[in-house]
Amino acid sequence: MLDVLVIGAGMTGISCARRLRASGLNVVVLDKGRGIGGRMATRRAEIDGQIIRFDHGAQYVTARDASLQQALNEISDSAVIWDDAGKPGAYAGVPGMSSIPKALAEGLTIHQSERVERLEFHADYWLATTETDSWQAKRVVMTVPFPQVAPIIGEDHPLSAKLIGLEFAPCMTLMAAFKPQADIDKSTRLNEAIDLSWITFNSGKPKREDAVDAWLAQASVEWSAARVNQDKVTTEQEMRVLLCEALSLDPADMLHSAFHSWLYARIVNPLGVPYLVDETQSLYLGGDWCLGARVESAWQSGTAIAQALTA
Ligand SMILES: Cc1cc2nc3c(=O)[nH]c(=O)nc-3n(C[C@H](O)[C@H](O)[C@H](O)COP(=O)(O)OP(=O)(O)OC[C@H]3O[C@@H](n4cnc5c(N)ncnc54)[C@H](O)[C@@H]3O)c2cc1C
Repeated sequence: MLDVLVIGAGMTGISCARRLRASGLNVVVLDKGRGIGGRMATRRAEIDGQIIRFDHGAQYVTARDASLQQALNEISDSAVIWDDAGKPGAYAGVPGMSSIPKALAEGLTIHQSERVERLEFHADYWLATTETDSWQAKRVVMTVPFPQVAPIIGEDHPLSAKLIGLEFAPCMTLMAAFKPQADIDKSTRLNEAIDLSWITFNSGKPKREDAVDAWLAQASVEWSAARVNQDKVTTEQEMRVLLCEALSLDPADMLHSAFHSWLYARIVNPLGVPYLVDETQSLYLGGDWCLGARVESAWQSGTAIAQALTA
């Protein structure tokens, strides 16, 4: 039986599992995705015979937290200061944002493509069931976005009631590549008041050597929320038009585009405490939704849970 089962290999799950492992506990991490890092995500696309990496989730990481700063220092090949983030001391991943969680997860036992469907308490252990497997653990740490908790532990579980009223904002995201353009402003544009509230030159991140100009655009919360139920092809097309207008580029020069709809992008009203724990002190819930809409908040939540479990 495992000492601890961690559900979710985003930054919350990784920070928690790293500490638990360092304390000598037998820890396994399960994630439903094919990659590691959750919303610290990178999508690859082959464009004109070259692999281009688009960071379509978190754009950068800041590290006011000393333990996160130390961890980033340890993976300095994968986390490099990005001057054009619009935030001093912001790190981007090399070769992509997902390289940061991958490097931080080195040495952890992580099983990917394992979606936990059910979690049940059996007197003195927890049983987690996935589509193909089951796992027994003395204690469980769930780090999935809060709306995905109740379907796993049950709507009637006392912890599910504590999540009522929390809210995630969506974020519609466009990845686009153009023929190289020498004469346009490639600095990051952040303006919450307009439809495309974040536009950044993805190819300008540290150590990218793209032969095309790759751009990343995120729509504002209002614009995104209004299109949650709209078909994705239409939303992508709308974003393509907005991006070409914003950059004054000819749509005919667009070589590639891809779209992602994040329904649970950023927590609007974080819980205000780093985690929740059940009455048996053996089921912990954590994530960025506890402390704030940042990678750093996810890291702090996972760290706080590990500290509680090893105290
Ligand atoms: C578009 C966008 C832009 C952002 N920009 C920034 C930024 O620039 N800077 C910043 O600091 N933050 C940014 N954020 C926020 C940041 O990405 C998050 O705060 C942080 O990555 C959350 O980490 P987490 O581990 O709490 O959750 P997640 O990263 O969501 O990880 C949860 C994991 O749980 C897994 N999972 C879910 N359900 C199950 C299940 N049933 N079984 C198994 N596994 C499951 C998921 O696959 C996922 O890997 C951005 C987010 C988005 C979406």
